[in-house]
Amino acid sequence: MPTLATRCRQCPPSGGTVVAYLPGQEGHRSGHRAWELTQRTGHRHHDHYDPDLDAFLVIDNDG
Ligand SMILES: [Zn+2]
Repeated sequence: MPTLATRCRQCPPSGGTVVAYLPGQEGHRSGHRAWELTQRTGHRHHDHYDPDLDAFLVIDNDG
């Protein structure tokens, strides 16, 4: 299971929930896909890159 990047300033203190995981091997495409998912899901979510996992994650802030 992916873990949250605690260094991300957008992540809530509670940690939130990972709702999407996009491997970083695809680079910019994965980053853009994460951004698209965030736009679609609305204000409760944000996306960030986790260097430990080498992946872009979409986080549900209220999770
Ligand atoms: Zn975050």
